[in-house]
Amino acid sequence: MEESNSTQWDEPRKNLFSIHKLDYARGKRPEVDCILCGICRKDPDVPNLMISETDLTVVSVNLYPYNPGHLMVFPKRHILSYEEMTKEEALEIHEAASKAITILKKLWNVQGFNLGYNIGKNAGGSIPHIHQHIVPRFPNEAGFLDVLANSRIVIYEPYEMQKEWIRIWKEFS
Ligand SMILES: [Zn+2]
Repeated sequence: MEESNSTQWDEPRKNLFSIHKLDYARGKRPEVDCILCGICRKDPDVPNLMISETDLTVVSVNLYPYNPGHLMVFPKRHILSYEEMTKEEALEIHEAASKAITILKKLWNVQGFNLGYNIGKNAGGSIPHIHQHIVPRFPNEAGFLDVLANSRIVIYEPYEMQKEWIRIWKEFS
């Protein structure tokens, strides 16, 4: 019947991201002094992709992911330079990064990672509040669709990714 044919195409495709939502997520950066501080205080004007928090640090999905699974870990204190980090903050960031890598290896079979800080505009830093990137790397990164076709990663709309990570993060604790 014609009707069933048309619903087949009208139905949302669960494995593909919602372009509408992604546009919203990637819209103009909110007018706040610091996006990361906004995430920490759960400012309603800041898209909040937090996965987990402690007294000192936050783990979050990256709003502008380089790859699916791109996370950020950062201290709650608004510090701009690496040298200002305390041992306690550094240890927590290390532990969160280790946990993220363990999860990505086990669940998504990720075998390559870039970890690091972009400090200062000359280094590509766009948010001055210090934060560590955890970027999973995949063979054949020609595009997201290639990644999708060859792996188990099917969720990469940022808010869907956040939901999934919140669940996984609790399971692995
Ligand atoms: Zn800040």
